[in-house]
Amino acid sequence: MTDEIAEFRARLRAWLDTNVITPEPDEPHALFLKRWHQTLFEGGWVGLSWPREYGGQGLGNIYDVVLNEEVGEYGAPDAPRIGYLGRALLQWGTEEQRERYLPGLLSGADYWCQGFSEPNAGSDLAGIAARAVLDGDTYRITGQKVWTTYGDYADYCLLLARTGPADGRHKGISAFIVPLRSPGVEVRPIRAITDESEFSEIFLDEVEVPAGNRVGAEGDGWGIAMMTVAYERGAADVGYLSKFGATLHELRGELARRRPGDPLVRRELGRVEVLYRVLSQHVGRRLGERDDSDAPPGPEMSVDKLLMTEVDQALHEAAVKLLGPAALLGETTSPWLRRYLYSRAASIYGGSEQIQLNILAQRVLGLPR
Ligand SMILES: Cc1cc2nc3c(=O)[nH]c(=O)nc-3n(C[C@H](O)[C@H](O)[C@H](O)COP(=O)(O)OP(=O)(O)OC[C@H]3O[C@@H](n4cnc5c(N)ncnc54)[C@H](O)[C@@H]3O)c2cc1C
Repeated sequence: MTDEIAEFRARLRAWLDTNVITPEPDEPHALFLKRWHQTLFEGGWVGLSWPREYGGQGLGNIYDVVLNEEVGEYGAPDAPRIGYLGRALLQWGTEEQRERYLPGLLSGADYWCQGFSEPNAGSDLAGIAARAVLDGDTYRITGQKVWTTYGDYADYCLLLARTGPADGRHKGISAFIVPLRSPGVEVRPIRAITDESEFSEIFLDEVEVPAGNRVGAEGDGWGIAMMTVAYERGAADVGYLSKFGATLHELRGELARRRPGDPLVRRELGRVEVLYRVLSQHVGRRLGERDDSDAPPGPEMSVDKLLMTEVDQALHEAAVKLLGPAALLGETTSPWLRRYLYSRAASIYGGSEQIQLNILAQRVLGLPR
């Protein structure tokens, strides 16, 4: 196994030498990442641990960690982050849904987004109000989603809507594959503090969705959502391990040019590097365990999310602290200030830091409420 992984690493590094792409002038980040996803897929590096019948390679989960590590160390763009939505389809979708949707999701031909949060349902996701009403063999979906990452670029949305009574909480929720080009869908990008529009509001007005696009049975939406967010909290599942590795790589380079030999820089970089290595080891062990068990990830993934947040925020705090005014005035090669601001969102998306602590206290440690 060790030899096979070493050979895999060497092959990947050689491939990166000739295939890493850079953004075109004015290319939106989401479209650049899509192009990179497709390039990686064509090279045979996406879906390493996915079943072969849906376009994957049937390798162990540990290969996803290795991919993340190598892509990050190389300083290449992030490994694809969208597979966590596909995991829900893999586990809950019908054979027809898997065959129809998974290949495009894996190859990067189709962009997907996650339509869970609403204006009054974020941490309290069981409070969602979007409704899906069955009429013959079609659902009509009406409601509003918010903070939907890449909603304005997505082809499909894995969307939660209520099929049961309005006060049914967790029990009355179902999950749907909603094609976002459908009549009745309006996507409005939201401009964030980073000056980018990573996420959007999505308004749905009597949007017709075939009953065959419901994932799982009516009422399965809560289980599907919980499984999806558990995968989303994994640093290799969303490509963030590679992102942090690449950030560290870039920061080392920038500081070597600006503050060569500075002991304060060495100390701070050492500190964040240790945090990154702890995360990487933890994720490696976690995914190794996944190879030995058929059970999908659960509430324990909140540990991964907290570690991921810590690394993200420590890295970017170190960057603005060590680069000082150069980072704030945009004189650096990378927009560190924008990246620092985005890192503040790490303790919110995928479930806030406080919610992760609640999950660990109640569902992992069994502490009283
Ligand atoms: C960059 C970014 C991308 C996102 N992308 C998506 C996406 O693609 N799809 C999607 O569906 N959503 C997405 N979200 C939304 C995200 O999941 C929610 O913002 C998050 O779950 C928090 O919900 P909220 O914003 O409604 O805050 P609230 O739930 O209103 O929480 C406000 C504050 O109260 C705290 N709080 C709430 N309840 C409790 C409690 N019981 N105990 C202790 N503290 C509590 C929270 O921790 C938080 O600090 C994204 C968010 C961000 C920032």
